[in-house]
Amino acid sequence: MSKITPENIREKAEKYRDYATRALSELIRIRSFSGQEEEIVNFLQREFAACGAGEVTVDNFGNVLARLGNRGPVIAFDAHIDTVDIGQPERWSFDPFCGDIRDGRVLGRGAADQKAGMASMLAALKILSESSTDLPFTLFFVGSVLEEDCDGLCWQYIVNEDKIVPDIVILTEPTGGKINRGHRGRMEIEIMVSGVACHGSAPERGQNAIYRLAPIIKAVENLNGNLADDPFLGKGTVAATRIRSNAPSLNAVADLACLYLDRRLTRGETPMSARAELEALMEVQQAGARIEIPVFEKPSWRGTTYPTSKSYPTWLLPENHHLIDYAGRCHQRLFGSMPLVDKWIFSTNGVATMGLANIPTFGFGPGNEEMAHAADESVAVDDLVRCAAFYAYFPWIVVGQ
Ligand SMILES: [Zn+2]
Repeated sequence: MSKITPENIREKAEKYRDYATRALSELIRIRSFSGQEEEIVNFLQREFAACGAGEVTVDNFGNVLARLGNRGPVIAFDAHIDTVDIGQPERWSFDPFCGDIRDGRVLGRGAADQKAGMASMLAALKILSESSTDLPFTLFFVGSVLEEDCDGLCWQYIVNEDKIVPDIVILTEPTGGKINRGHRGRMEIEIMVSGVACHGSAPERGQNAIYRLAPIIKAVENLNGNLADDPFLGKGTVAATRIRSNAPSLNAVADLACLYLDRRLTRGETPMSARAELEALMEVQQAGARIEIPVFEKPSWRGTTYPTSKSYPTWLLPENHHLIDYAGRCHQRLFGSMPLVDKWIFSTNGVATMGLANIPTFGFGPGNEEMAHAADESVAVDDLVRCAAFYAYFPWIVVGQ
């Protein structure tokens, strides 16, 4: 085994600059909207094997997993390989699926969110598979699916059904050069109020569900101002996002009205506490409203449904956790500076790895969070190289190099 030093890891990451860039171009050219990842999974199966993975599997949910090494601590790198749609085509100044390389950047939907993370992982896999035939750690390189529709569901499946429970998870979502150690949780909530339908010409005979919902809407608006705040994660929030009602006809009084909420949870708030808070509202009680958390049950590309409640817990790795220390040391040795430690604004698979399964998780990934879901999405090639070096070196820090 050649000696592992930050210098030779950096050199090898540089050597694979073109490889990572080309791999990202190809990943972008393969469209992979949530639930339609079959083609990109097939591509990655071949690519993982070509990069020297010990074993490549596609689980029954449709995630693609490459393993390298067979002993020691288990470290998983995660990149979700689905993307959101392109939005309005006229907002793009280039073909969203071109994968072109221009001015040191790779262009296209998924460039930053987050196929670049996968491209860096592939380069790291190449570096590590070449460095030794008997690595002192076990690595999983995971291409996870359906994240944009239901963050973390892929990892609920990996932990609970594949029975793979790593000691450490590294998310490769974009962090703009920073180490991210958590983000707010979120949940969807439905508040339902019933009424009694009657002819619209004599509304006094019935009970209008829409009118009964009205005070609840106002109460929710007021609630937003009173939610918990946290200096690091930010404030808990609640927003009304949709109203739906039902009546036998447009000449009838409504017998059902539903209010949909987007709730962001900060430190100390849980899906249970958020629900209890709504149930405690006087307006909710007076209207006899029912509160439900919708269930996600869209099938994956493999046709597997794995129903889960649409609540995604807050997660936060403590600032003084040894992984933050390892990540800082890794960054310092490779790049000569300590990284900023921050959080994501958006949500990631960390809701499952750390939020539900309690696996210590942090993020370091190519690209900027602001690019996610935006038109003219792109990522810097330099980011790919830096992240490949980080992923290839980090496991050595974990085993005490
Ligand atoms: Zn993402």
